[in-house]
Amino acid sequence: MDPRWHPSSWKSRPVAQAVTYSDQQHLERVLSKIATLPPIVTPSEIERLRHQLAQVQRNEAFLLHAGDCAESFDACTHENITHKIGLILSFSLFIIWGARLPVIRVGRIAGQYAKPRSSKYEKIGDSQVLSFRGDNVNGLDPDDRTPDPERLLRAYFYSATTLNHVRALLTSGFASLHHPRDWSLAHVRSPSLRRKFEKIVEGLSDALDFSRTIGVDPSSIPYEKGGGRGTLAEVDFYTSHEGLMLDYEEALTREFTIPSSTSSTNSNSNSAEAETKHYNTSAHFLWIGDRTRSLDGAHVEYFRGIRNPIGIKVGPTMQDDELIRLLDIVNPDKEVGKVTLITRYGATKVENHLAGHIKIVQKSGHPVAWICDPMHGNTLTSSTGLKTRHFGTIIDELTSCLKIHEKCGSRLGGVSMEFTGELNEEGFSVTECLGGSMELTEEELGLRYQSFCDPRLNFEQSLDVAFLISNYFKK
Ligand code: PEP
Ligand code: MN
Repeated sequence: MDPRWHPSSWKSRPVAQAVTYSDQQHLERVLSKIATLPPIVTPSEIERLRHQLAQVQRNEAFLLHAGDCAESFDACTHENITHKIGLILSFSLFIIWGARLPVIRVGRIAGQYAKPRSSKYEKIGDSQVLSFRGDNVNGLDPDDRTPDPERLLRAYFYSATTLNHVRALLTSGFASLHHPRDWSLAHVRSPSLRRKFEKIVEGLSDALDFSRTIGVDPSSIPYEKGGGRGTLAEVDFYTSHEGLMLDYEEALTREFTIPSSTSSTNSNSNSAEAETKHYNTSAHFLWIGDRTRSLDGAHVEYFRGIRNPIGIKVGPTMQDDELIRLLDIVNPDKEVGKVTLITRYGATKVENHLAGHIKIVQKSGHPVAWICDPMHGNTLTSSTGLKTRHFGTIIDELTSCLKIHEKCGSRLGGVSMEFTGELNEEGFSVTECLGGSMELTEEELGLRYQSFCDPRLNFEQSLDVAFLISNYFKK
């Protein structure tokens, strides 16, 4: 590691999307407190994820990165967390079945609070107020937009509480295949599509029944090649968020010895003496957003020094040479399992950019996992003024990605989705994205639009995507 890097070296660089606090001493007090609190995740979990992302790079596993655009403190409830994890498990089960590959699950959860904004201010009614920057910065209420450092501390505790519940669920049989969530297909409007989906559900259910009949409990089958860890009853699950608030990330950056069971995965370790690294212990995986990835900026400086596997959002403005320089900075030793490129060009732009990016990365020799975020390049405003996305466009970008990778001798290693299994009191899914097998219309968008950030696919629309990916790989 470059000796000039340390957990606060980012401070000497320009900070994109900076938050201004009126009371700097108050901020310092809060950060000092956070710096004394225990890690939220552990180095050995982080190392295990690196190991599994190396499997994704070798086409031996599929990465599912999914969750809300932004979590809110109020949404930290038993029901919401259960529905989120349930959807991620159902989605991954269909992929495992179709692709015959283990799925590495990384939730946008337990810390995904801060949001980058295209504008510092927004207009509400006649007044101009500071934009909402996420629950760990300010409030959604227009009267509560002054950044408050205490929110960072609250974010720590909400993250820890959320992850505690996720861990509890996953070690208490919730993930057991004996109790999969009802995969009802009643919402599928087209009879031919419904038949197609029914075949998939039948195939998967048959496989599970067969395993039980011959006396194998499918919930106890280790499913990871090589790792030997993780069963379908006790699944591995990882957390992630955009590493936007660098003060917070720095306060949770801790130096540890690389856990001995995993140090062999570190390409540089060739001696018996213990090697230490800086781990960001706020989440297993962090990503750099499309608005904060400037080469000489603070975010890239911070990210280059942490041991965690990282994601980089790659949008249509990313230049070929810029991408390679970025990889050289954050992964100079070309370590496997370290970098995941999350492409998000938009359905109309993917054809112009993806192949070029794949080729230049292949030429550079950088090991990366490629995953497709078909959400962020495809946002539009409905005629009724709601921010939305069309299911068909999301599928278009995903399908293009699959094909372009194949054509370039590469392979799509996973997807990054904004979806939610959340239900309202009457048990209905949210209505934030158009289309899908339920054929949601513009008129229906307002019915249960709950996101205060980007629109998410609901339970049914998400499973539509899972069915399509499963089918693609099954061919
Ligand atoms: C996001 O993932 O919510 C996001 C803001 O993405 P991007 O940085 O790609 O715009
Ligand atoms: Mn988003």
